[in-house]
Amino acid sequence: MAKQFDVVVIGGGPGGYIAAIRAAQLGFSTACVESEAYDDPKGEVRLGGTCLNVGCIPSKALLQSSEHFDNARHGFVMHGITADDVKIDVKTMVKRKDNIVTQLTGGIKGLFKKNKVTLLPGHGKFVGGGEDAWEVDVAGEVVTAKHVIVATGSRPRHLDGVPVDNKLVCDNVGALAFDAVPKRLGVIGAGVIGLELGSVWKRLGAQVTILEALPDFLAAADAAVAKEAWKVFTQKQGLDIQLGANITAVKVGKKGVTVEYESGDDNHVLECDRLIVSVGRVPNTEGLGCEAVGLKLDDRGRVDVDEHCRSYLPGVWAVGDVVRGPMLAHKGMEEGVMVAELIAGQAGHCNYDAVPWVIYTHPEIAWVGKTEQQLKSAGIDYRAGQIPFAANGRALGQGDTTGFVKMLADAKTDRILGVHIIGTNASELISEAVVAMEFHASSEDIARIVHAHPTLSEVMHETALAVDKRPLHF
Ligand code: FAD
Ligand code: NAD
Repeated sequence: MAKQFDVVVIGGGPGGYIAAIRAAQLGFSTACVESEAYDDPKGEVRLGGTCLNVGCIPSKALLQSSEHFDNARHGFVMHGITADDVKIDVKTMVKRKDNIVTQLTGGIKGLFKKNKVTLLPGHGKFVGGGEDAWEVDVAGEVVTAKHVIVATGSRPRHLDGVPVDNKLVCDNVGALAFDAVPKRLGVIGAGVIGLELGSVWKRLGAQVTILEALPDFLAAADAAVAKEAWKVFTQKQGLDIQLGANITAVKVGKKGVTVEYESGDDNHVLECDRLIVSVGRVPNTEGLGCEAVGLKLDDRGRVDVDEHCRSYLPGVWAVGDVVRGPMLAHKGMEEGVMVAELIAGQAGHCNYDAVPWVIYTHPEIAWVGKTEQQLKSAGIDYRAGQIPFAANGRALGQGDTTGFVKMLADAKTDRILGVHIIGTNASELISEAVVAMEFHASSEDIARIVHAHPTLSEVMHETALAVDKRPLHF
């Protein structure tokens, strides 16, 4: 007889493993199906999905290492610290990153044991069943569950005619595992991955050219932040970013890669040693057996769900990158918790209006809520405050004064509608804004909160005061 569970989760990434743990905590017999071993030396299935294995965690490890290297070479001079002959050992840097990944993915297996989640290794797909029990085939064995949570995530989008071998032409998987610093690195796509991984290899000494199809830079960010980022990345850091680039051919030879592209009326050729293709990601729904049970996909091939991650089949849910909304680990995790709690009859919720975005370049970029452009086009009256880090004692002490915090608040109610940061530690500073938005706070609320001195968080405080045109230090 088929093994029975209350809840089966397909996919062991942030959306899936969190959904499984929360479901088990709520008393459900729970299994999580995962097919990928990633780089496991024993070939055993690894948990954590894209995020832990080939995404968030390894990229942040490399960003940190490369930032230390860059500081040792250029950043510490202002503090009177110089070091001759600073070298990077890429193998050690990559090994450190691999060790962090191994530690964290193993940790999730430990959490599964602790919470009594059964790991089912293998590819999972719907093969039949209905409302009372869905049937999921896992590597030839069928398991059943009343509730199935699809958390199969996403994979890199590849371009026609651009052969990704993850050696010379890489998506995120290969780009996180270079064995040496390329002399000339080409990147297609100036999105989040292009900027983060482009920064890593630029800091380590590569000459980096990023080719972006759109005429605008960082179109999703607030325009003031995008403008500042453009200035810092291209003028101070020397990233060569070409906007409006239409790729016409990519040729791989023994010695490297040639990218042909049009820009305006001109044709260009970029010669590079390695190429990263980072042009977005596509949902994993192929081979999931959607047709066997009639699971509907939306116009972009994602599982079609409502605001509570319910599909149109009773008891079938979907979370994370495989559904609408931003492809962010924390959004997937929050959805995983929400679904498990809804299955338990609780009031699970995910506030999509307060999902923060962070780009881990230097300076970091982080935002939550609406941009000024979005408010203008929606015809919403707002007041804005903006304070530079250069006016903050802690930022000066750290020698890191680039950027600003910008706050947008409703003109009538003063409720905070959006906060945009470009600057050091923006990834941590944004949390205050997320909490404020979650609790419908006003700029006056932030202005009245005591912020420790001297801290970077005082810039948030000053910005809130600036919304009311009464900053004290600027
Ligand atoms: P995934 O993490 O993709 O996990 C899905 C899992 O399901 C995979 O392990 C896959 O093998 C498995 N699977 C798929 N189909 C099946 C099947 N049929 N049977 C069994 N198993 C299956 N987000 C952030 O929030 N912050 C960051 O800093 C960040 N950095 C990133 C950096 C890079 C380079 C990349 C590529 C992504 C980054 N992301 C970041 C995005 C983040 O990784 C994803 O949003 C997140 O991993 C999505 O989680 P998920 O659980 O939906 O899917
Ligand atoms: P992205 O959507 O962030 O950026 C892709 C870029 O490629 C866009 O600017 C797009 O206009 C451009 N593009 C598309 N087709 C092109 C073409 N043919 N030629 C040139 N440019 C082209 O996607 P990504 O950078 O691949 O990252 C995928 C997703 O992973 C992100 O959207 C994000 O959800 C997630 N991610 C998040 C983080 C983070 O939170 N810090 C980091 C990395 C990845």
